[in-house]
Order: sequence, then structure tokens, then C-alpha cells
Amino acid sequence: MHELKIAEELIGIVIQVAETENLKKVTKVNIQFGKMIMIVPDVFHFVFDCAVKGTIARKAKLHLEILPVKFACNKCKEETQIDDLIFVCPYCGSNDLELIQGRETIIESIEGEKNG
Ligand SMILES: [Zn+2]
Repeated sequence: MHELKIAEELIGIVIQVAETENLKKVTKVNIQFGKMIMIVPDVFHFVFDCAVKGTIARKAKLHLEILPVKFACNKCKEETQIDDLIFVCPYCGSNDLELIQGRETIIESIEGEKNG
């Protein structure tokens, strides 16, 4: 279960950002994961709720988005989104592909209430 480690790291960043922005509490956190990070959304929601305990993000709602895997073909330069992990360019059949999306861990935005 690598979700817990990822959740703890992300919440550390969320809290830092919230402090920098002078938030008294975090109400919502929007996170994007590339599909290849293999996050199980239900598991992540669970570990997120555990990891925010006792922090200013303890009441935060988590919104998760999973980004599809995308490749660029080095031969014909077309870009393609791949649902099952078959790494062949559908345009020219080449397997000389470069990953352009799918391994992201992005805190897209944080919402909260400001002090004062
Ligand atoms: Zn191609």
C-alpha cells in the first residue's frame, strides 16, 4: 500500500502551502494522479482521512482525478492515449514511444478559509 506514503507527503505540502497562504483551515484539496501511479481511489481517500488527522486540513474534502496515460510516438510524432497497457503506436505501429502523461502527482489546488 504505497498510498499512505504518498498521502503523507502530499499533506505535508498542503499544510506548507496553507501556512504560506495564511489559511486557518483547508476545506478542499484537488489532487491529480497519472494512471501509472496506480492509485486506488478508495484506498487513497481512506489514507488521506487518516493522514490529515490533527492538522489544519482535517476537515478537507479530497477530490481526486486520475489522468490517462499518453504517449508520443518517436517515429510519426503522433500522440495517443492508451487505456490498456499495449505500447504500440496506433498510427504507424511503432513501439518507439515516449511517455508524456501518466506518472504525475499534482496538487492542482487547495481551498480554505483565511485568517482574520
Ligand atoms: Zn507512430
